[in-house]
Amino acid sequence: MSKDRHIRNSRRRNNRPMYYREFGIPARIAKCDSVEGLEKQIEKYNGKKNCYASVYVFDSSQDKPDGKTNYETAVLNTVWFDFDDNKDVDKCLKDVRKFIRRYCKPLKITPRIYLTGGKGFQMNIDFYCPVDLPQHIKRDSIKEYLKHLKQKYVLKTLDDICINNSVSCMRRIVNTAYISKIEGTPTGVWCTQFSVDEIMKLDIAQLYAMAMENTKRTIPPEPSKKALRNFVEFVCDLHKIEHTVSHSVDYLLNKLDEATSSISHSYSISNEYIKPPRECVIKLIERNIERGHSSHENNNIISTELVAAGYKNRDIHFIFESIYDEPGGDWGWYTSNPNIAGRQIELIRSKALNRYSKDKLIQLSICTDKCGCV
Ligand SMILES: [Zn+2]
Repeated sequence: MSKDRHIRNSRRRNNRPMYYREFGIPARIAKCDSVEGLEKQIEKYNGKKNCYASVYVFDSSQDKPDGKTNYETAVLNTVWFDFDDNKDVDKCLKDVRKFIRRYCKPLKITPRIYLTGGKGFQMNIDFYCPVDLPQHIKRDSIKEYLKHLKQKYVLKTLDDICINNSVSCMRRIVNTAYISKIEGTPTGVWCTQFSVDEIMKLDIAQLYAMAMENTKRTIPPEPSKKALRNFVEFVCDLHKIEHTVSHSVDYLLNKLDEATSSISHSYSISNEYIKPPRECVIKLIERNIERGHSSHENNNIISTELVAAGYKNRDIHFIFESIYDEPGGDWGWYTSNPNIAGRQIELIRSKALNRYSKDKLIQLSICTDKCGCV
């Protein structure tokens, strides 16, 4: 076994996240855990088959027991739009322009836009950072958001398949050849990225002419805080969580966690009933300290566990500081003063939130049936 492979396997055993993207023709035939891996697949199939990649990356440490992808682990850093019309691609272009004028421009969002090479366009709106939603609401959140945008901006050509596939959708890879579905040979058109200016100015014939040149061009994404905010606020609306401009995204994500989690709020912690932290949660803490990173959901698991175990603010502070190795910022898990709890910890104490159930921990791949905890 090569050294790399050895490291990868031992990582998998430690349940550390390892992200990959699916590759398809369009049937999903490979999982690529690096850009190089994806490029190898493209090299092999480009010009022979239509080349697709999953819009999102997924965590292999949380794959299903049969090795299938757990789509709920998708890292939500973008929203992908697929505009399609079998008869008239001009209608797609009109929808793309309408969406840019009415949604992107007012919010100062720069989308990524691609002519697929067939009869349609693809578009991405990129978030400033991944949105750390609870796993079980990711699929519906993306789906409902696309449905809402389709309706609000009357995007008739926005494809319902892309909406329904949500976190598991596959997109055509930029700068790969479009293969005729009837003859099975290249049509001479390449999946090509265009700037917003080009999309607004050039007509369909001009865009196709450029897409036949195989420009090999890519335009870097412009991740947007407003795009992130707009999406998070929409998800809050779905779950009837009030929001104003004064609420931080992190605060709203915390509210979403509360509103959608199965944690019981009725159980109160008293000194007579202290629950020592479970081994699997301690391992989670150790893993996160080692990798210097933790997700919002992980932090909730850790915090509720430590509060239920009767940990003092100072001890909780020490644990989060060990994970992040930096002064407590405004994320709310710890402050610059070890004696003053972060507001998330305050919230857990004041609402006497219960720690996560074993079932929930298993569902989140933190605990397993084999774990001795209860
Ligand atoms: Zn356990």
